[in-house]
Amino acid sequence: MTRTLLLRNATVLVTMDAERREIAGGGVFIEGNRILAVGTTERLPATADRVIDLAGHVLMPGLVNTHHHMFQTLTRAVPAAQDASLFDWLRALYPIWARLTPEMIRVSTQTAMAELILSGCTTSSDHLYLFPNGSRLDDQLEAAETTGLRFHAARGAMSVGESQGGLPPDSLVEAEPSILHDTRRLIECFHDPSRFSMRRIVVAPCSPFSVSRGLMQDAASLARATSTMLHTHLAENDTDVAYSREAFGMSPADYADSLGWVGPDVWHAHCVKLDEPGLATFGRTGTGVAHCPCSNMRLASGIAPIRRMRAHGIPVGLGVDGSASNDGSHMLGEARQAMLLSRVLHDPDGPDRPRMMGAREALELATIGGARVLGRDDIGHLAPDMAADLVAFDLRHPAYAGALHDPVAALLFCAPQTVSLSMIDGRVVVQDGNLLTLDAPVLAERQNALAGRLVNG
Ligand SMILES: [Zn+2]
Repeated sequence: MTRTLLLRNATVLVTMDAERREIAGGGVFIEGNRILAVGTTERLPATADRVIDLAGHVLMPGLVNTHHHMFQTLTRAVPAAQDASLFDWLRALYPIWARLTPEMIRVSTQTAMAELILSGCTTSSDHLYLFPNGSRLDDQLEAAETTGLRFHAARGAMSVGESQGGLPPDSLVEAEPSILHDTRRLIECFHDPSRFSMRRIVVAPCSPFSVSRGLMQDAASLARATSTMLHTHLAENDTDVAYSREAFGMSPADYADSLGWVGPDVWHAHCVKLDEPGLATFGRTGTGVAHCPCSNMRLASGIAPIRRMRAHGIPVGLGVDGSASNDGSHMLGEARQAMLLSRVLHDPDGPDRPRMMGAREALELATIGGARVLGRDDIGHLAPDMAADLVAFDLRHPAYAGALHDPVAALLFCAPQTVSLSMIDGRVVVQDGNLLTLDAPVLAERQNALAGRLVNG
């Protein structure tokens, strides 16, 4: 018989449902990996196989991360790449990344996922686009299994090296036929399209400046033939837009449109520099955006027009982006940054006047926004028949003391904390603030040893 679990007495339960209900004294009743009931504790069953009391906690849907490069957790804060913008930053890091090994892919995946889970994330995508020294996406998938995180693995690729006018060194690019062949293999072996799926494969050439037009088109055909999604980087900064105009004679959004890279089965990272026609194209076609505020600030890329995107009806989720340009994988922190950065762009005389982006809108991006971007209707909010992906934050932390007038807003207005409880697919993966699926100190030690070897050659 499937086991039942009762979470009860939360100070506030944030449902993110259609009415955006917040329930004082709320709880959730779960059977297996499925939510059966959501409501005030009195209206839920009185007992279950396991009961967890959440007095003093905010309980909410797990956060969804829509863009990352987990291997980069090995190259956080590398001195030569600390203060450079996108293209110089890449040139400083490519030679280091060329030394990555399968073991490094596995350990960095676990490290990134441990950090994500502790920060409230229950579903993440990752964009892995280089496979040196025998590395395969299989290494990452194997590591992901050990963490308990719900995972969308984007099989990235680069095919245009320096000698062909691209940015990456030739040693990091792959032949286009083998990219497509391997991506198809991964979809056939690992892609699970079912409801509550823990593992999906995404077709994801790295960026328009590192692959050919032909590969972008073939990737779109492959994704449509296999009902998988498409993901890449787009319009990240002014240089990126200039490259698009020079190399392809059109804006990034027009280029994406011309390749079939628009639609509800496509999401692009960044889109900081989408122009008005581009915003209209994305809105009309339901093309998604992974907004990565920390990375955009770190690389001085600019401020993505999130409010304008939402006004166009564009699905927007949040991404922490790779850890060499953030350098953290803290999802709650990313939601806070999205809220704060949006305010820098706020026009007191504009159409939004006078309302700035609030904590709840930022949390919406981090939950239902991300779920929509990843093409999922089974995660992102709490309601009967949704997946049991939930997180709880302990309001008794000193960081929240004095902020309990609005505990939900406190999660974003106060310094971002880590979860005390995380449940993914009905499985408790963090309890009392401790990660149960991995030995965090041992993992950090391994990661540091490998990072030292990677960066110092
Ligand atoms: Zn990225």
